[in-house]
Amino acid sequence: MDRLASLRLRDLPSVDLVLKSPAATAPLARFGHKAAADAIRIELNDARCALRAGAPAVPGADEIAVRALRRLDAADRSAMRPLFNLTGTVLHTNLGRALLAEAAIEAATAAMRDAVALEFDLATGKRGERDDHVRALLCELTGAEDATVVNNNAAAVLIALNTLANGREAVVSRGELIEIGGAFRMPDIMARAGARLVEVGTTNRTHSKDYRAALGPETGLILKVHTSNYRIQGFTAEVHAAELSGIAQAASIPLVHDLGSGTLIDLSRYGLEKEPTVGDAIADGADLVTFSGDKLLGGPQAGFIVGKRNLITAINRNPMKRALRVDKLRLAAIEATLKLYRDPDRLTERLPTLRLLARTEAEIAAQAGRLQPAMQAAVGAAFTVEACTCDSQIGSGALPLDTIPSAGLAIRSSGGGSALERLATELRGLSMPVIGRIEDNALKLDLRCLRDEAAFLSTIAGLNCDALA
Ligand SMILES: *Cc1c(COP(=O)(O)O)cnc(C)c1O
Repeated sequence: MDRLASLRLRDLPSVDLVLKSPAATAPLARFGHKAAADAIRIELNDARCALRAGAPAVPGADEIAVRALRRLDAADRSAMRPLFNLTGTVLHTNLGRALLAEAAIEAATAAMRDAVALEFDLATGKRGERDDHVRALLCELTGAEDATVVNNNAAAVLIALNTLANGREAVVSRGELIEIGGAFRMPDIMARAGARLVEVGTTNRTHSKDYRAALGPETGLILKVHTSNYRIQGFTAEVHAAELSGIAQAASIPLVHDLGSGTLIDLSRYGLEKEPTVGDAIADGADLVTFSGDKLLGGPQAGFIVGKRNLITAINRNPMKRALRVDKLRLAAIEATLKLYRDPDRLTERLPTLRLLARTEAEIAAQAGRLQPAMQAAVGAAFTVEACTCDSQIGSGALPLDTIPSAGLAIRSSGGGSALERLATELRGLSMPVIGRIEDNALKLDLRCLRDEAAFLSTIAGLNCDALA
């Protein structure tokens, strides 16, 4: 280190001096003495390193305080802050899936703030069951005899398999041995549940005789799995739920149907393709049906198991239930969400997920037209912004091959891919991050899930287009 640099080091203010500077008022007021002093110490250390490396100017006390505030602000911004999901995937697992209905938000908030009768029967004053709040609703909406709730659908499958097939065989078609993503692979879940997997049929064709031949004294259950994220096409055959239920019944073996997304209503009334509902699966004779709370149902993360009373009772007695149960916040939100299904005519008004899925291309295209000029102004002359059509997806393994016609903004740059990547990074760094997708040499923002146009406009006004040029 040269002599000048060591002289400059001595000119750096002390922590105390920075704390007394006018610019330190803001970090002190907002973050308290300890956090402010810690951040100032880090900034002084960084400044010392910069001076040793030859930086010419010594920052003053105010400057260090401003830097400390910036550091505290950045650390204070939550990664869980709300963002604009403009990916075109409505139920995006990495972006938190379903958006909850206002009724569910209010119910969860109230349950957070106050004591609630979670496991307490208000009529008798005695201990109650935590699932009672949603059990009757689930039975009413699905036609099932009984119901229980666990952490998510993966947990629902795990506990159903463990309860019915621990140390025994679970029979499943080779065409349904799904991997959902992450570490959720049906064969692995079966192994952890203690069930021995018995695969029947082939990848593309499974027949009723394949199931019949596999059943024996060791069989604990037959599992039918919704092939959520893929479809086998061409020369195919599967045994439909109703027929499979007949086979299971004849052998006195329970049939468990993992529906995955699991919708409670016929989606064709909203212009989407018809998926079998949970009620259909029950009517087709499944002994248990498992499905998610935060996919098409539009509620919080949860796994529902509905079906025969004796089997639900056995599941509730499994010690795993205690480890997989849901908390009061989610139970409150689930109850409020399920109640909305009692009035299907107003469901799109009240359930955000359904409202977004039901938006028409024309409505979204009009929005794209309104937003195009502001987006063009925000990104600057280095980019061109055009309204475009896009294909939205439901996501989370619901109707995997179906897309919904949508509209949005396509942003292109003569600077090519790296300019688009830079823009995507800037958009992710906004106070309310904007997440699109890069496709066909364009950054595409599918506007299907854009609810608050005014918030979007004020957010993109914060883009630093000089940094992008
Ligand atoms: C999504 C899905 C699961 C897992 O459900 P989570 O609620 O995400 O745990 C299991 N099985 C099928 C068929 C699915 O589609």
